[in-house]
Amino acid sequence: MWVTLMDTVQALYELQEMEGDLQKSKADLAEVVSRLDHNEGVARSRDRAARAKQAFTKLQLQQGELDVDVQATAARLKELEQRLYSGNTAASKDLLALQHEIKFTKEKQADLEEKLLAKMEQVEAGQKAVATIDAELASVESAWETEIPTLQQKQEQLEQHAKDVAQWYESAEAAVTPVDLKTYRVLQKSKGTAIAKVERGMCSGCTIAIPSHELQKLRTSTTPMRCSNCGRFLYTG
Ligand SMILES: [Zn+2]
Repeated sequence: MWVTLMDTVQALYELQEMEGDLQKSKADLAEVVSRLDHNEGVARSRDRAARAKQAFTKLQLQQGELDVDVQATAARLKELEQRLYSGNTAASKDLLALQHEIKFTKEKQADLEEKLLAKMEQVEAGQKAVATIDAELASVESAWETEIPTLQQKQEQLEQHAKDVAQWYESAEAAVTPVDLKTYRVLQKSKGTAIAKVERGMCSGCTIAIPSHELQKLRTSTTPMRCSNCGRFLYTG
């Protein structure tokens, strides 16, 4: 009878352990699958690289526009100066206006050239930034590619483990009487765990000390015993 009793509580305890194991395996598997599906570091790095390229393209465009403005202003200045030196502008009023326009155009050109120079510096810095971020991305992607086979292997192991446990679970379940199994399920539903280990004279489920006469009975009882406080099956392991 003693052996039979231990078999019952032990089988229930093993069921509980396997349920915990299955739950953990499923969570681990979900995490591995999600890591295979999406790598946060790579995604962030790709995003940064795309933004850096976009910023660089915008700077290049601005540089191009300034370049066109500088050329147009230079052409305009040349034209004005040719008009001045041709001597065709006889009237002093017209001459003064022409000189004013030349002065204004020269100032505009100087301003545009300064802006163009600053923009060229920005373009150079932007190009360096793109190169740095691209190198970082390449390294993050390569690290990720090395990680994939390890993750795939882990996924296979976890899937196999879950299959094995499910099989062991079936045989452990078959070793328990329907009545005990029903009580186990009811306890599990209401308390989370149905079996509590007896540790240092205490029920590990509710951490209440088991009265000494019950501990005594636990050693000699021929039927599965439950904690008088929380109702869980007591397993002496
Ligand atoms: Zn208890």
